[in-house]
Amino acid sequence: MSTVNEKITSEIREKVRELLASGHVAAFLGYTSGSVPMVMQPLIIRTPEDADRLEWNSFCVLNLANYLPALLKSFEPPRRPGDPPPEGPLPKVGVLATGCWSRNMVIQVQENQVDRDRVVVVGISSRGMVDRKKVLAAVGHRDVTAVYEYDHSLKVSGPGYEREINRWDVVRDNCRTCVHPDPVIFDHMIGDLKGERDVADRFRQVEDIEVLAPEDRWSWFSTEIASCIRCYACRNACPLCYCPTCFVDDSRPQWVGKSIDKADTAIFHILRAYHCAGRCTDCGSCESACPMGIKMRILTRKLQKDVLELYGAEAGMDMQSPPPLSTYKMDDPQDFILTESIKGEEK
Ligand code: SF4
Ligand code: SF4
Ligand code: SF4
Repeated sequence: MSTVNEKITSEIREKVRELLASGHVAAFLGYTSGSVPMVMQPLIIRTPEDADRLEWNSFCVLNLANYLPALLKSFEPPRRPGDPPPEGPLPKVGVLATGCWSRNMVIQVQENQVDRDRVVVVGISSRGMVDRKKVLAAVGHRDVTAVYEYDHSLKVSGPGYEREINRWDVVRDNCRTCVHPDPVIFDHMIGDLKGERDVADRFRQVEDIEVLAPEDRWSWFSTEIASCIRCYACRNACPLCYCPTCFVDDSRPQWVGKSIDKADTAIFHILRAYHCAGRCTDCGSCESACPMGIKMRILTRKLQKDVLELYGAEAGMDMQSPPPLSTYKMDDPQDFILTESIKGEEK
């Protein structure tokens, strides 16, 4: 009998074959297996015959929205700055989208990075993706040569061992606390919508740090980023980071040093998180991409919690609501801006 993921894979292939054969899309962005176990790589296909290369499993952790603007642009005629936009309809592209990826696509449309009319979204309600670092920890960091995925467990094997692991135990932290697994925009759906999830301690990871004294919070932050090698895989994996020149790469002016100096590294993490405020969907792509296992997502999660509490808004939930920090109302609450110093003055 087929597993859930095998059924999803088969339905994806059928739908994508149809979209490409009918000429409805010129290319489709999905996943195929990487060269080592537990790594799936994004794949762009352009012919119906290639649909059989597409695969789906719990290791599809990189947010596909990140590749969408460049894929759309690849079908546009070259333009110099100031040239008028191309005339006539441009080819459409198809893309897979779970809940968080679809919300990143909403942000991309709102920020004029993606033309919704040129994207055919094939939605999948997410069951949560697996964290390969948790799997490696569960097998004592031994070599993994094969992983077979059942619906609720993983069979992991390597030289001289085989181990069955409960799937939910190794699901990524962001997926375990995700309340919106369904895509918010889609043109075709693979399987059914699952509805909102009820997660009682949704922001527990953040709350555990919020209750600490300021010096302990600083100590947590300094320790967490101490092993950062400034490779920028986290930034590069994020669909929100599309600046032509990132502040860390700018040299005129140079906003931040390029070394792994503690202060420079701290500035990188703090500023990157602020740039994602009100826009981050907690997709976890940044954390999944980090080679050093740094939990930088907790910073954006804190901002997500603050934006929800202060503005009652979550990024990308619908096309009509702009990202909360890019809009302004005369009666916006402002007292929180100086909360800490006002408290200090009262003492
Ligand atoms: S970190 Fe900030 S400046 Fe750099 S790419 Fe991301 S949003 Fe742009
Ligand atoms: S900051 Fe991280 S969690 Fe947030 S949208 Fe970007 S990649 Fe996803
Ligand atoms: S991916 Fe990890 S090591 Fe690389 S810059 Fe980001 S936090 Fe640092």
